[in-house]
Amino acid sequence: MAARAMPEDIGLRVWLETAGPPAVWKGVPHRKYVYFRWAPDSTLRVGFFVFWSEMSLQDKFGRQITDLRISVTDRCNFRCVYCRSADPENYRDHDQILSWKELERLAKVFYELGIRKVRMTGGEPLVRSGAEEYVKYLSDLGFADLSMTTNGHLLAERCEGLMAAGLHRINISLDSLNPKKFEKITRTKSFNSVMHGIDAVQKSKLGPAKINAVLVRGINDDEVEAFAEFARDRGVIMRFIEFMPLDADRHWSRERVVAAAEVFERINARWPLVQIPHEKSETARKYRFADGAPGEIGLIAPVTQPFCGHCSRIRLTADGKLRTCLFSKDDHDLRTYLRDGASDEELETFIKSVVNGKEEGHHINEPGFVQPNRTMVFIGG
Ligand code: SAM
Repeated sequence: MAARAMPEDIGLRVWLETAGPPAVWKGVPHRKYVYFRWAPDSTLRVGFFVFWSEMSLQDKFGRQITDLRISVTDRCNFRCVYCRSADPENYRDHDQILSWKELERLAKVFYELGIRKVRMTGGEPLVRSGAEEYVKYLSDLGFADLSMTTNGHLLAERCEGLMAAGLHRINISLDSLNPKKFEKITRTKSFNSVMHGIDAVQKSKLGPAKINAVLVRGINDDEVEAFAEFARDRGVIMRFIEFMPLDADRHWSRERVVAAAEVFERINARWPLVQIPHEKSETARKYRFADGAPGEIGLIAPVTQPFCGHCSRIRLTADGKLRTCLFSKDDHDLRTYLRDGASDEELETFIKSVVNGKEEGHHINEPGFVQPNRTMVFIGG
């Protein structure tokens, strides 16, 4: 199937030159191009410069892969009960984690392959020093959508710098509005710092903040309406995520999942909701409040309403493994290729073949489903 180009990936420039090399090169990095020059006399040259990018990451089901989640660390300062275990640290050694230079090189290769949306995640991306410089690198490469998922603990003091570096959007995880319950879920006392982080985002151009809440039956499912009220009061975008079988302690069960349909019904009964159109590949079904209140509600239902048919995402783990699905049984080892001296072309060929084999969908709802070995903190959510 032929690869499609996005509108921003194709263009024509015309230049006039009286001397020296054409300055226009600088404006079209990482694109393929042809140019024609015409010199009517010895002082004037006229050129036509046509450039395009080949959107070449496509899987065997015809899905165009344009989104990449990059986990920049497997370390986290929180121990959320639905994600990590309370046990002692089991982080990878530092030399197993990709260096910033390696992450830069891979980002450039992915850009050339047609990735246009990048989300930095972890672990907790803000615990690794150098996160802002990496945002700047990604921003200079030209990604159309550059975002980050964070637990918000370090955000108040980092928000300005992230924005200045070129970050477009930010998601903050917050699973309870009750400080005591927050402490139980995250096993930290960071409630106030997360709230300050959200305030900082709301005051900045990064706002409105997107707040991610993972609902777990019996733990925080009583807070659905409180979160909706929080969205209305603060004008934030509230995202409710279904609990997925990616927790370290293997406590996931179908009974603990709070279905997106239930969340919709409960909020809609109190404050009627109006659906907002969404891109097919978007994970969230989005709603605004019918009474015109600020804020937005989003429902992400990977368990009860899987959206694999339109998935446009792949993931790079902090230790350099490529994953084509959150629930993939296997990783694909980019790090070894990279460290063995592969050229950009060899990396591209490898990535294309991995993407081609992306699974049609996950099997959470089928008998015999096996939870992947890697948990969310080691994948990068
Ligand atoms: N440390 C950052 C944070 O807390 O947002 C980024 C990493 S965290 C693994 C990314 C996202 O994955 C968070 O929004 C978190 O709530 C979500 N997550 C972790 N475990 C999950 C699970 N078992 N089911 C659903 N979402 C999960």
